[in-house]
Amino acid sequence: MTTPALPVLTLKAHRDEALMRGHPWIFSRAIRDPKPTLAPGELVDVQDAAGTFIARGYYHPQTDIAVRVLTRDPAASIDAAFLAQRIQQARALRAPLERDPRTDAYRVINAEGDFLPGVIVDRYADVLVVQISTAGMERLTPALVEALRTVLEPTAIVLRNDVNARAREGLARERTRLAWGDTPPLVAIQENGLRFTVDVWTGQKTGFFLDQRDKRQALQKYAPGARVLNAFSYTGGFGIAAGVAGAAHITSVDQSGPVIAHARDQFALNGLDPAAHEFLVGDAFAYLEKWATGDERFDIVILDPPAFAKTLQARPQALRAYRRLNMLGMRVLAPGGLLVTCSCSGAVSMDDFSANVQEAAQRLGRPVQSAETFTHGLDHPVLLAMPEGGYLKVLFCRVP
Ligand code: SAH
Repeated sequence: MTTPALPVLTLKAHRDEALMRGHPWIFSRAIRDPKPTLAPGELVDVQDAAGTFIARGYYHPQTDIAVRVLTRDPAASIDAAFLAQRIQQARALRAPLERDPRTDAYRVINAEGDFLPGVIVDRYADVLVVQISTAGMERLTPALVEALRTVLEPTAIVLRNDVNARAREGLARERTRLAWGDTPPLVAIQENGLRFTVDVWTGQKTGFFLDQRDKRQALQKYAPGARVLNAFSYTGGFGIAAGVAGAAHITSVDQSGPVIAHARDQFALNGLDPAAHEFLVGDAFAYLEKWATGDERFDIVILDPPAFAKTLQARPQALRAYRRLNMLGMRVLAPGGLLVTCSCSGAVSMDDFSANVQEAAQRLGRPVQSAETFTHGLDHPVLLAMPEGGYLKVLFCRVP
């Protein structure tokens, strides 16, 4: 079968270098002959200044990122079979998780990191949650749903097209809806043998912070006997991991009442008596301030706030907020305690973040040792040619 010819965009001279390195984006300023009349998300071919085919992808005539590359193969047609092949490839990378009988929740498609720009797909047991952020992927939704059904055989596919990033592409924030099958809103999952229920309909992100799975597990070896503070706890993840591993007492803090209620239920689900632990609804900064000036201390302090820097412009302010938070975390830490500090701001690098933790310690006149350092787990692959696809930094530090 021959593919009907696609519209062709030609790059300016020497504008194909990032692409040749493996970066999947082409910026509008690199295109010699923009095509403003094409519909957002239409498939296009891209050729270099000399007229040689270099990529096939989808185009948006109004955004800075004009083309997101789907393939460098001129023979590939972009259809359900093509997407199924990409999903198969992504699935192979996750074989270690698929084989693990104690884990049935992880990211199955990490957008550009899995060569499928504009879409993430998370697996919660037999349910898939899909989030589409670009016009190009939006147009491919029916083929994507078909391909996901073929390769992963879920009982339901939930479309969570409610992210703000869609506005940049001229897409509406939609209500959550089913693209296939059926599911109750609360889905029971297992992560390294821990039990959680995930609200796939209205929970934050796609319902659960899957990107912290390996960090929650890594924390467990430090937990026996510890008094733990889980600040920005969401539905309790880190605290439950610590509790199951033998922590003595866990304080969970989140500004959202419903997520704290959910955390309480999940303690019980894991055989931890909620009445033996503390659950606080309110501003984590305010609680930390209060404890720092009193004498409440913790052996383990977990700080996992939302992204403080969503843009590069917000970076200086975000770094000040991280420093303040890290200082507060250290002040409520018992001598020799473990600080688990996280940043999910894309605009803050690992180097920035370690320097930030160091500065916080310096201001308190204390040394700080990094014990372990983490970024993403294997289900959140990042293209080395596109380091901006990564965002998570997690430091396990000792503050003697
Ligand atoms: N560590 C969690 C994920 C944390 S997400 C996990 O492993 O599941 C960040 C959380 O911080 C969200 O639940 C959000 O409600 C909460 N939050 C945001 N600002 C806050 C604040 N100022 N004080 C307390 N919680 C806050």
